[in-house]
This record gives sequence, structure tokens and C-alpha cells, in this order.
Amino acid sequence: MPPVPFIARPEVLAKLLRLRDRGRLAQPLLLVGPEGSGKEGTALEFARRLNCLGPEACREGAPCESCTKVASFQHPDIRWLGPAPATFNETDVRALLEQKLANPFARGAESATAQVNIGDPENPGPLTVRALIRFLRVRAFQGPWKVAVVSDAHRLNTAAANAFLKTLEEPPAETVIMLTSTGTEGMLPTILSRCQKVRFEPWAEADLSAHLAAVSGEPAERTLWAARLAQGNARLANDLLQPESQALAAWAGLLFGWIADGRRGQAAIAADELHRGVYSHAVEAPPTRRGAGAAGEQGAGERRARAIRLCELLNLHYSDALVCREAGDLWQPRFPEAVAVVKRVAAQRPTEMLLGDMARIGAAGGDIDRNLNIGLVMAVLFEGLQAHGRYEPANGSHAAG
Ligand SMILES: [Zn+2]
Repeated sequence: MPPVPFIARPEVLAKLLRLRDRGRLAQPLLLVGPEGSGKEGTALEFARRLNCLGPEACREGAPCESCTKVASFQHPDIRWLGPAPATFNETDVRALLEQKLANPFARGAESATAQVNIGDPENPGPLTVRALIRFLRVRAFQGPWKVAVVSDAHRLNTAAANAFLKTLEEPPAETVIMLTSTGTEGMLPTILSRCQKVRFEPWAEADLSAHLAAVSGEPAERTLWAARLAQGNARLANDLLQPESQALAAWAGLLFGWIADGRRGQAAIAADELHRGVYSHAVEAPPTRRGAGAAGEQGAGERRARAIRLCELLNLHYSDALVCREAGDLWQPRFPEAVAVVKRVAAQRPTEMLLGDMARIGAAGGDIDRNLNIGLVMAVLFEGLQAHGRYEPANGSHAAG
């Protein structure tokens, strides 16, 4: 059991420690890999290691002074920055960091939509690039290293990215800047060219399952199911273990069936319900989550996060149909209650069509993530999926767009 709750990818952490040992940390690092692959946890754990007072002062169950502070996000030389509403104050930031500590795999509502902001020139909020630049200008108080972790750097808006550029070009001495990103798309080429890239792959199922079990206290067969279903994406796997996901998975299963059966009216109602942020009339609503349902920006974030999650779950149904079609008897259903519909869809739709459907759903999730209108995106998606709902053989006009 490590002294702090950050969950790192051991092989990447070892690589980062080697970079330190060789004196190769002068350039900013870009930790790049798929969603839920452990980039942020690895960055924070590396930050802890950089400033740890060493094996004599720091042991299991008795962390050193530095690690104790890191473990509560209170180390004066280590700063985290990520997407957050521009209006966030110190109290909001504290709540966000507490959530991170309570469950490192949880996906914050704000992470779905907010940007990394530049901040006001006079009085930048605590989670802004300007505040981070000020932090980096001051020499380290305690540790040997000053460390900045910027999560979801692809969400740096243009002004923020430009403001940060100079610091990335010439980071102060004894400073480590780590950016994390799911991809390099949408990032300024000038930023990319300054960073040395460190790549992440999805978690191995068994490793992720073990971490999920430790974090959630769920039995191993559940966490293994979630890790497998999420294909090594820790955030999605964590979501799948939440009570809300059972309701969402049931909803996704119904939608999948409605679309297969050409029940346009039902699908249209679902699009509207997602837009309004209410649960499907056709499934039992989950118990209200703590912190959910707050008004304003966060409410919108919740709605988007839910719609994106539903897309992910719907996509898994199509993926199931694809595997069912391709693997035949070897297919292992992900959603036992959806077996009959999956088989029907697998029989109806050729492989290319299913791949097209999955691409469509993935694109819709991306559109919602980019702040497009939820109701509109969903209505267009469901209509598109239904447009080739009925398999019409031999005319070949159903290739996905
Ligand atoms: Zn320590």
C-alpha cells in the first residue's frame, strides 16, 4: 500500500524516474494516451517521488512530511491544474481535489465540458494558467522540485495555451511541467514541439480490476467484469460500477432495441429526456448521487457526462453485435439481458454497417463533449442509426458516412 492514493502505471513511472536519474527533465513532458489510462495518477505519483524525503523518512504507514502534504494536495511546490469553470473559487477547488482523493478513477462532471482557463490578468482564479505561471515563477519552498501537472491539456483554450507557451519554452530551473492529454489533436503545434512525449496504453484488465477492487470495495468478479467491459479504461470501468450505470446500461439496452425495431418515437423521446437531464420513463431512476444535480454550469456538465456515458454504453451494445457476428459461438455477451436483441442486430447488419454505427456513436459523444446541443446531437444520431435500421440486402447503399 503506497503512502498516498495516487495510482500510477508502474512501467511508465519507472521510465519517468529514469529520466530524472539521467537529468533529462528540463523539457516539459506530455503524457499522452487514451482516456482512463492512468496519466494523471502517474503524473501525481511522480511528483510525489520527486519531492519525497527518502526511504529513511518515508515508510509504509509512516509517510514523510512531504508525502503527507502531497497526499492531501497541500504541498506548496506541487500544483494541479485542469478543466474547471472559470468561476471556481478556492472552496470549489478544494471540493474537486477531495473528490479526486476519494476516488482517483471518478470522472468529475466538469471534466466533460469545462476548459482550462487563462484567468483574469489582475485576479486569476486558483485553477487558471495565470495562477499556475505565478506559482512556477517562485522558487521551490521545500522540495527539490517545483512540479506542475496540467490535466487534459487538449482543453487549454487558445488564450490559455498562448499564455502558457513562454513558460513551456523556458521552464524555470528545477521545475517539472507535466501535461496530460488523450491526444495531440486540437493542441497548438508550438506546445507539442516543446514537449517530450510519454505514451500510455489502456490498463491490463487484471491490473485495473485489482485497483478498482481496492478503491471501490466491490468483489473481484464485478471489478473484472467492469475492467473487461471498459477495455482497460479506468474511468469508464469506475462508472460502470456506479449505481447510476446500471440504470444507464438498461436504458442503452432499450434504446438499442428500439433502434433495431425502428421505433422512432421511443428514440426521439430518449433524445429529449437526455437533453432535459431526466431519466428515461422506461427505466427505474438510480438513487441520486452525492453532489449531483447542482444548478447552473455543473448541472449542464452532469447532463453532458450522462449523455456521453449513454453513448459509450450504446456503443458497447453495437460492439457486442459485431463480436457476436464475427466470433459466433465464441461470443461472450457483455449484457446478458440484451442477448436476444444483440443476436437479432448481428443477423440484420453487416460488419461494415456495424462499424459505421459505432463510428457514428463515437462521433456523437465527441460532439456532446464539444458542447454541441445534446438534444440535437442525440436526435440526429438516433435517426442516423435507424436510417439503416432495417437490413436491405444487395443494394449496398448503407455504407456508413
Ligand atoms: Zn515520502
